Amino acid sequence: MAASSVSSGSETERQQQELEDTVLLLFSAFASASSQNTSLLLELWREEHVQYLKRAFRGLGTSYSVLDSSRPWLCYWIMHSLAMLNQPLGPGMDRRTIDFLSRCQDPNGGYGGGPGQIAHLATTYAAVNTLVTIGGEKALASIDRNEVLRFLIRMKQPNGGFSMHDGGEVDVRGCYTAISVAHMLDIMVPEIVDKVADYILSCQTYEGGIGGEPNAEAHGGYTFCGLSALALINKVNTIKLPNLLNWIVFCQGKVEGGFRGRTNKLVDGCYSFWQGGVFSILQHIMPELNRQQLASITPLYEAWNQDVASSSASSSKVTLEGSSEVSPTSRESVEERTAAGIPADAEPRATDGTTTDHQPTGTSPMYTHREDNRRGSISELVTAEQLFPVVDRNIKRAPISVTFEELEDQVSETSKEAKDGAGNTNQAQLSTVDQILNENEQMLYGPLYNAHALQGYILLCCQVLDGGLRDKPGKSPDYYHTCYCLSGLSQAQSSASHRVNAPPPPKAVLGPYTNLLEPVHPLCNVVLSKYTDAIRYFRHHPFRRVP
Ligand SMILES: [Zn+2]
Repeated sequence: MAASSVSSGSETERQQQELEDTVLLLFSAFASASSQNTSLLLELWREEHVQYLKRAFRGLGTSYSVLDSSRPWLCYWIMHSLAMLNQPLGPGMDRRTIDFLSRCQDPNGGYGGGPGQIAHLATTYAAVNTLVTIGGEKALASIDRNEVLRFLIRMKQPNGGFSMHDGGEVDVRGCYTAISVAHMLDIMVPEIVDKVADYILSCQTYEGGIGGEPNAEAHGGYTFCGLSALALINKVNTIKLPNLLNWIVFCQGKVEGGFRGRTNKLVDGCYSFWQGGVFSILQHIMPELNRQQLASITPLYEAWNQDVASSSASSSKVTLEGSSEVSPTSRESVEERTAAGIPADAEPRATDGTTTDHQPTGTSPMYTHREDNRRGSISELVTAEQLFPVVDRNIKRAPISVTFEELEDQVSETSKEAKDGAGNTNQAQLSTVDQILNENEQMLYGPLYNAHALQGYILLCCQVLDGGLRDKPGKSPDYYHTCYCLSGLSQAQSSASHRVNAPPPPKAVLGPYTNLLEPVHPLCNVVLSKYTDAIRYFRHHPFRRVP
């Protein structure tokens, strides 16, 4: 219906307009529901999703035949989703999965997409993450770490990147999957780490995000992979974090609340994790982000200071005129916008209602145009940003951790100490983490993104009544999107929590608190307690490298 109001434009613009129309109707129906129904609508349909995931073990539809070379991925998407929902499959299914993945091991190292298939870095990552998720001696001991290491080293390229398989493509996925596997299995050797940071830096684009390979477009999946890999090898200080942040904040749709993977593309549920997860990483490295922000503005500040000083020396009139031109205007605009109910830091708008800059950051140009034409008919429609405003603006919080090594130590400490016999978190025993946090400088941090709006998109637009989650309304659910919608939801729920492995405050969880999923490791994307168990297991079984 609305498509007719814009006669020209690309196919993507038309799709964007349709999506916004659909999402606005969904959000508006939600906004007009009674408070009792509101709570129901925001529920995570746990049982339906569990049944959907378990149905996979009785057989997959014919549409999955194209994933014959990605079978360890299917194991991971399903097992990890069930783990986040705290619904283990049971010993029988665990044994079958371990047995299947053992048959996917390539005699020359690594895991293939199925028995008899050649090893691939992506399926090796999926297999290792699945076995870590299953956990226990049988699963973890089934991994031939020496052969995996030989495979990783064989994939290593002179430019620092990794080939996905023998003779395969080299891209940032290779860096992430190789580094994550090496980290988890405790087989990180210098040959693997060598020049990885150089390769990833060569993929950071002028937009600030990371592309798949040098000179490729910034992309959400590769940005997560690149930043995660850097965090795992303690090299986040080498990438331009303010540029990355500047790009990624504009990838969250104001209308939808979800994330788009690339500039000017449509939002998609899977980027709830690939893009939303980047914010979880940034939250862990706030001191480095702040340091870089400060370093980038200091020269400007000094230059400005010098300008002011020289202007004052030459003519006080110029300074006065200059300041009278600038300050009142900006003060007025802030006051006007605040009075109009627009947050003072919202995107600037021209007087004709169009955005003045960064169109992809929010309401698309055609949407604004349509709004002008149909003001009466859509006055009741609400966007994700209006429906789920940022709740904890300017709260006082500490950076979670300076490095991920510290995070790892904290996780090991807290998971040992912070659970009582019944598995409940004991607040009084979290003193180790508190102590570390208190040693860090307390700073004012506003949230880096709108985690409530993201949760709103996942719960209201991506859930399917029969179970499973999807890319966007109108699409069918699948196991990939179920996994990454739930991973993104878990990260968003934990985003306001400043304690590692501690339950987030109720206000951080959109909908009933029973929506709370198991927390996941922000870099490896396995449930945090499974990660801790695996790290502990591999440290107790030191790796002996066989040449
Ligand atoms: Zn997707």
